[in-house]
Amino acid sequence: MTLQPKSAARDFDRQWSRVRGMLREEFGETAYNTWLASLTLDGLEGERVLLSVPTRFLRDWVAAHYADRIRVLWRRVNPMISGVALNVMPATPAAPAPSKAIAAPAAPVQESLERAPADMDIGAPLDPRCTFDKFVVGQPNQLAFAAAKRVAQMAVPPFNPLFLYGGVGLGKTHLMHAIAWQIRRQDAARKVVYLSAEKFMYQFVKALRFKDTMSFKELFRSADVLMVDDVQFIGGKETTQEEFFHTFNTLVDRGRQIVISADRSPSELAGLEERIRSRLGWGLVVDIHPTTYDLRREILQVKARTIAEEVVIPEAVLDFLARRITSNVRELEGALNRIVAHATLVGRAITLDMAQDILQDLLRAHERRVTIEEIQRRVAEHYKIRLVDMQSARRARAVARPRQVAMYLAKQLTPRSLPEIGRKFGGRDHTTVMYAIRKIEELRAIDALLSEDVETLRRLLHG
Ligand code: ADP
Ligand code: MG
Repeated sequence: MTLQPKSAARDFDRQWSRVRGMLREEFGETAYNTWLASLTLDGLEGERVLLSVPTRFLRDWVAAHYADRIRVLWRRVNPMISGVALNVMPATPAAPAPSKAIAAPAAPVQESLERAPADMDIGAPLDPRCTFDKFVVGQPNQLAFAAAKRVAQMAVPPFNPLFLYGGVGLGKTHLMHAIAWQIRRQDAARKVVYLSAEKFMYQFVKALRFKDTMSFKELFRSADVLMVDDVQFIGGKETTQEEFFHTFNTLVDRGRQIVISADRSPSELAGLEERIRSRLGWGLVVDIHPTTYDLRREILQVKARTIAEEVVIPEAVLDFLARRITSNVRELEGALNRIVAHATLVGRAITLDMAQDILQDLLRAHERRVTIEEIQRRVAEHYKIRLVDMQSARRARAVARPRQVAMYLAKQLTPRSLPEIGRKFGGRDHTTVMYAIRKIEELRAIDALLSEDVETLRRLLHG
């Protein structure tokens, strides 16, 4: 800063107060108080006015939105001025303050900044039942579970983003809430924001409408951990995508953790711009697989234990549910709750008959099983080979691999035994089927493309 003769300095101060008056008039009380009131005049450097603000964030914001206007207005009162420079005030040592709320009067602008995001309440509430210790781990979800735990434990993102995907009701939201709970418990100072992609979009559109994208940005960008659930809904709206992407990049650059969930892999997210899709896949992408019998059984066991003690749920009923409700954990829980609710209401003991009776409609919906023929047809279509090649003896890789994929899916999606599957594939031996399954399992671990093919097919057949 340059020292000015006293009278010049006074003059200069007067100019500043006139400029402030004009700014206040032009932008209104709220915007002025939020963004401009904390500007302080440092002096003049050549023909440039030097102003400073308390935070880097404010500096960027003022520079992007008001600096030009300040320059224009200043030239009105003093045509000699050619520019405005914004600096961040060196931090003043903080007075001992019991809490932000009490410290605030000294810095009204910062207070209003903090309040604005708080008022928006962007995050969604967390379900107290969704913690790590309530999550039953099995083969289909163990990787997702381990990854989520790691993210919750590490102060520095172990992978960014963590992208969890899988069908509905398989525990994505549960794991995200669990991450949030654990971080809150470990380190309450870390700011965790969890919300659905829909809510994210809604907030953004609302902010646009009220011309308050500022606090929106500030809010999200102040998160230490940002979790956005069900991002398959973010597609479409370009401005929202853009905003999501910027927020995403800013946070990653600042070393903040991002956790994303979707019902499909990043590359399958239609409606998202390519660069966003590819960026989402940079961290760790983990697939939560459909439940297995073992996992369903275990989940039921755990839930049954926590359900009202006076209700006894026979093992046979749990086994029946685990075998028949294969779609997802949510339905499984729903079925169990229904049985328990019914039994409690009518005051009768739970039996297998009763369970079958109560769940009739649900079970009927599940009867529509995938057949091996359907699998063969879908797989043949997908790989553009002829259906007959599913049964043929041709060994060319172009047909042999899809055939193996079909066998693998047949084992996964139908209750058929290996010999039965072999018969449907041109009378092959069960060891051939076993080999095919192993092969695909092996390949899936190292060949992302193949793995994606299999997942896509599985969803097609399941959905
Ligand atoms: P998604 O978000 O993938 O659609 P949710 O996380 O909402 O699925 O899970 C659906 C329901 O199933 C929730 O009540 C959740 O607590 C429960 N759930 C899912 N997976 C598990 C699991 N492995 N152990 C215990 N409960 C689970
Ligand atoms: Mg969910």
